[in-house]
Amino acid sequence: MPESLKKLINSISYLPWIWEKSATKLAFFLLNSNQNYLDNLWNNLINIKNNIWKCSNCNTLTDKNKNLCNICSNINRNKNQIMIVEEYLDMITIEETQVFKWVYHILWWAISPINWIFIWDLNFEKLFEKIQKSEEKIELILATNPNIEWEATSSYIIEQIEKRKLKHKTIITKLSRWLSSWFIEYADNITLINALKERKTI
Ligand SMILES: [Zn+2]
Repeated sequence: MPESLKKLINSISYLPWIWEKSATKLAFFLLNSNQNYLDNLWNNLINIKNNIWKCSNCNTLTDKNKNLCNICSNINRNKNQIMIVEEYLDMITIEETQVFKWVYHILWWAISPINWIFIWDLNFEKLFEKIQKSEEKIELILATNPNIEWEATSSYIIEQIEKRKLKHKTIITKLSRWLSSWFIEYADNITLINALKERKTI
């Protein structure tokens, strides 16, 4: 097998959810693709590093020429309701329901010392700052996944709200039930909407 093809298979096989056989198949697909497609793919790959950054307010992904994402810059969004999610895809899943008009705060991780992810790796400060600066009461909606990491993350947020004397400015709510799919990203729409609509105050 040519060296370049071996290297391509090797690179593809590092991608998650790709088995070695699929990596080989994908490499052959690319080998047989036309030049236009490959140029496009190449440009798109380069652009994910060059043209995407994080919203300065909520940490979601946005185009590099925008300081704020479309949600944060939307005047029809309720800035006093902040949904806290771990992953960008959790936010996308909730946005796809087209039901809720709140804003988000994306942490990108959950506290997990066993995986070397500590409090300082997560973007909490900006969140507490927002509550501090707000003149109105803020609802923090913890759209957390049901695992130990998220239990730790939620507890930390609740503890800090008390410690920083922000309790009188905050209402903390969480999903009314565990989602059958276990994770927000894979939840079915109806269950997710109901769990969010009927959310409980902690
Ligand atoms: Zn934003």
